[in-house]
Amino acid sequence: MKITIEGLTKVYKNGNRALKGVDLEIGSGMFGLLGPNGAGKSSLMRILVTLMKPSGGKVTIDGLDLVKDRKEIRSQLGYLPQDFRFFSNLKTYEFLDYAARLAGMKKSKLRKNAVDEMLENVGLFEARDRKANKLSGGMKRRLGIAQALINNPKVIIVDEPTTGLDPEERIRFRNLLSSFSAKGVSIILSTHIVGDISSTCKNMALLNRGELVFAGSPESLVKECEGSVWTIQANQKEYLEINEKFPVISTIPAAAGWEIQVVADNINGYNGQLITPNLEHAYVHFMENKLQQWTNA
Ligand code: ADP
Repeated sequence: MKITIEGLTKVYKNGNRALKGVDLEIGSGMFGLLGPNGAGKSSLMRILVTLMKPSGGKVTIDGLDLVKDRKEIRSQLGYLPQDFRFFSNLKTYEFLDYAARLAGMKKSKLRKNAVDEMLENVGLFEARDRKANKLSGGMKRRLGIAQALINNPKVIIVDEPTTGLDPEERIRFRNLLSSFSAKGVSIILSTHIVGDISSTCKNMALLNRGELVFAGSPESLVKECEGSVWTIQANQKEYLEINEKFPVISTIPAAAGWEIQVVADNINGYNGQLITPNLEHAYVHFMENKLQQWTNA
């Protein structure tokens, strides 16, 4: 599976420029699209799933053109939107059966088998007779994935799937995505939560204000901030100064006052040690540098 995006732009009717010429290639496996709110992630997702037309540029999925071959592309795509809603009053089983019918599965015996198997795969078989709109947040999200996958798509696109889930459900959901990815389904995951990507994705892209600012592996983004993440031991006075001067990642009470993690190329004489960075550090570092470039430009 290969998605090629060239010079993609989106300008909304009110003049908002959500995408400003994005070039990106997305291959098989699990791909993460990261960026702050308003970066343009949902706009890109909606274009990829053919719900919205781009203003300019070109997208192909395995050689098929997103605009010209819309119907064919749709049959190969699954989508879990950010604000996925359930039809009230349908049981979990009925809901998935309905989604399967919409996806074109006509034969009821085959459909029943597919629905049962999918409910097993997402851990909802026991809940099959419960009303879909009464399920917990995590279960709803899993049912959302089930409906995206019921038609055996090549690729599924998942928009902000872990927002609002508690940590346990979040981990369970990530593991579920990984298990489908291992079975050969390509997954594009859009999120503003760094942890969603660091624990699952081989490749990623960073969007900001409608522009692609990074594409590569999470490891290569982390490499860019080696030598720029510090733990500083600080007293109360220093703590206040440091908060003013540097982007602070975390603050933990310690014997001498505070232990603070900051992202900075230089900590100007404070009592600190360099630490091994992770993706969250790298994201903050990258965005801070870009922000400075933009402000200076
Ligand atoms: P993200 O998903 O990263 O939060 P969006 O794609 O939702 O970003 O939004 C990108 C930009 O486009 C934002 O400035 C947002 O306000 C704007 N935008 C999104 N949807 C619309 C719309 N339907 N009409 C006008 N502007 C929009």
